[in-house]
Amino acid sequence: MTGPREEMACATCLTPLNVLDGDYIHPLHHDDDGHQPVPVPVAQLDTVNRTCDFCGDHHPMWTLRGGGVAVLASSAQTNLLQHLGEAWAACVACMADIDAGKAHRAVDRAMRRMGMHNIPFAHAEAQRLHQAFLDERRPGRTLITTTAWPDLNLSPRDLPKVRDRLAAFYRGADGLPASMRITQTRDHLADSLDRARLYWIDNSFTELAEHAATQMPAVTANKDLAPGDDGLLVWTRPATARRITAISWSTHADMIQAVAYRAIGTGLDDQTMQHLRDAVGWLAPIRTFQLRHEQLVNDAHDHGSAILLATWLLIAQKAGETAPAEIDKTIRKRYARAKRPLPDVRIVRIRARTRREDTASSTATGTGRTYTSRIWVTGHWRNQAYGPGRTLRRPVYIHPFLRGSEDLPIKLSTTVRILDHRSSGNPGGDAGK
Ligand SMILES: [Zn+2]
Ligand SMILES: [Zn+2]
Repeated sequence: MTGPREEMACATCLTPLNVLDGDYIHPLHHDDDGHQPVPVPVAQLDTVNRTCDFCGDHHPMWTLRGGGVAVLASSAQTNLLQHLGEAWAACVACMADIDAGKAHRAVDRAMRRMGMHNIPFAHAEAQRLHQAFLDERRPGRTLITTTAWPDLNLSPRDLPKVRDRLAAFYRGADGLPASMRITQTRDHLADSLDRARLYWIDNSFTELAEHAATQMPAVTANKDLAPGDDGLLVWTRPATARRITAISWSTHADMIQAVAYRAIGTGLDDQTMQHLRDAVGWLAPIRTFQLRHEQLVNDAHDHGSAILLATWLLIAQKAGETAPAEIDKTIRKRYARAKRPLPDVRIVRIRARTRREDTASSTATGTGRTYTSRIWVTGHWRNQAYGPGRTLRRPVYIHPFLRGSEDLPIKLSTTVRILDHRSSGNPGGDAGK
């Protein structure tokens, strides 16, 4: 990076932009559709289509700092001096090679990717470039939190090791981007994770929580909303448009601090994957947010608080069942050796179909139609009194249920809203989509 200029990426293609004569341009060999770059600060984006600056891999993991390098790119039309900057992205494989003193392997990979491995001149030039950067490399590395990884399916049995690895990462020396604003509280986050109850949310319950979150009214935050002072929620698949896989929270005197995560990994060979699991684990922080006690929370900016609050409230109102998960023998042994209490893992899932839901279903359809899949019929939020003297209010989600027979698959992403006197008064209506 040259100077203090903030790093920008194109909002259209999420590719980091270069600067040429004060203008933002797409990278030289950028495979675009000819659109104009739309520069936005990288810090505002959850996902950035960065590639490894050493080999071109699409899943860079670390930011390294080193010597500023510039290359002169010549083509028939133009000569371009391109500053590659002092911050380079490295994928897991390149990081492992650099750590092992085998940086030439990164060059081999880059040349193979570009189909230039038989051109000694190109190989030598790339090697020189890498070396110029690495010769002045400064110690340390920072986790890249904007890489879009393929989906990863975690099961309840994975949760203790996922939690432990994340806590170890917070206690470790690897950096997180300053925009995350948790540099000062990492030890605290790790301690909170040690105490956390672990929730694994099944697919149907995730679907329910997503629907409920889209209609979430503003809620007065207080620590009674959460099912505990410390916790880690893991959804079976990335939830909401932000593709959040997990959220952890810890309770402080005046607020709840939450961190949203994406799942990392899959799509790498075994050895590289092992490096990744050892160094980082399964979850990478995307962003943090706070819920101040007694403050009205609405998630207009979709930071993740709506899906968190909706999930908490649905658990509190027992919209599904919360069952303790069985803990593996190996995990039992490991915790016993470390003299730690067994991890508290809960599975949150939609209950087996009840008679009430049957009745509701037949009332709602009324036409004797048969369905080939089950669909969510979502209800609405209503404030309910609770707490000492019933002086507190919290929203309760009314009448969500699955329509269709239990042996049918659940059709995801289908919302049928019941229009009643509550919702029909809304400006713009609430018609199903
Ligand atoms: Zn673009
Ligand atoms: Zn690489």
